[in-house]
Amino acid sequence: MLTVGVLALQGAFREHAAAVRRVGARVRELRQRGHIDGIDALIIPGGESTTIGKLLVELDMLAPLKERLQAGMPAYGSCAGLILLCKTIENSDQPSLGALDASARRNAFGRQADSFEAPLSIPEIGDAPFPGVFIRAPVITRVGPQIRVLASVDGRAVAVRQGRTLATSFHPELTRDMRLHRYFIGMCGEQTSENL
Ligand code: GLN
Repeated sequence: MLTVGVLALQGAFREHAAAVRRVGARVRELRQRGHIDGIDALIIPGGESTTIGKLLVELDMLAPLKERLQAGMPAYGSCAGLILLCKTIENSDQPSLGALDASARRNAFGRQADSFEAPLSIPEIGDAPFPGVFIRAPVITRVGPQIRVLASVDGRAVAVRQGRTLATSFHPELTRDMRLHRYFIGMCGEQTSENL
């Protein structure tokens, strides 16, 4: 059975862990460097990307996770997790894992639309709209040639995939819809040209 490491330093990690269990994979909560060995995939939850990034550095987890990602370990990041996976974070020098050849803009929907819910069309996971829960959400402002945009809001990318790395601006872990978690677990077993 697949063991998914859910980064459990800050943010909505419990909800991700519950979702992963519901779709039939094993969870390991990652709180220190020694927990990283033996995981098959990584999930980075929403929360505060600056705090999570700082803790990753302080706990000496940034470099080993980066190394595993470079070696092809599948990863999924939601919201702050998306920010931490992007190569570039606009107007910020906070640390990132750089697994996605993309740029993120934090808090991109502005104050007025701080938090909102929007039905999203994500053909990759089926016809029924996905309930997008956005909380001070980022958007992707630049995508490299290997990135596939899976969903957009007003023409702005809010779900992307590169090889076996997935990222969403929104929080599927806060809904009852398990399709994105199921999709991610499915992705983990796929061979992609990047990983061959
Ligand atoms: N605004 C947060 C950040 O920049 C992300 C918010 C979230 O994860 N819900 O890190």
